Amino acid sequence: MTPPHRQVAETYRALGRAGMNTGASGNVSVRTRRGMVITPSGCSAETITDTDAVEMTLDGKPRGNVAPSSEWFMHAAIYRAYPNAAAIVHTHSDACTALACLNEKLPAFHYMITRFGGDDVRCAPYVTFGTPALADVAVAALIDRSACLLANHGMIVTGANADDALTAALTLEALARQYLLARAAGKPRLLTRAEMQAARERFKTYGPASNASAATKSKPRSRATAA
Ligand SMILES: [Zn+2]
Repeated sequence: MTPPHRQVAETYRALGRAGMNTGASGNVSVRTRRGMVITPSGCSAETITDTDAVEMTLDGKPRGNVAPSSEWFMHAAIYRAYPNAAAIVHTHSDACTALACLNEKLPAFHYMITRFGGDDVRCAPYVTFGTPALADVAVAALIDRSACLLANHGMIVTGANADDALTAALTLEALARQYLLARAAGKPRLLTRAEMQAARERFKTYGPASNASAATKSKPRSRATAA
């Protein structure tokens, strides 16, 4: 199995290639037995090496002297709250961020929204980046979901592994782009609850997309505790 430091670096580079990050924005982590491995503070997709990621406990003790991403608290709080989350991708990708700047959720405009665990992808309210308060609002917006938008900031997704989280991030960005295109062209018809439920049932028996929503089948185990 690919070492966690390398999983983080490869996922971060893949996000860069996909145009999902600009400069040093965005971060990636995977859960480990000790806590998590997360992208270092201020890294970029062009410069990160296979060993640059920082291993740390979920209460914030890094191994070594490299500073973790400024959003480590949000990643740690999500791992603490959702035991099934094994990897996390956070980006400021264009379409998700544009929608988040409207402070709007991504509604049931397309059946693929069910991939993220519900009939919409919520938008967590704006709070300052890198704070325990941001961790709190993200954990709350992820109840029964594997993705949420972060108002005036970006998005965050969880996955069953690094590849799943990467796929989730790319899928969410594509859906946000499609929704904004539809909105620009007119008023999209939203699917009904029954139509979304039928799509969910279909996914249970159809194709690889049934791997959906690794994270959040239940209430969080505990809300971010160090707020
Ligand atoms: Zn951010």
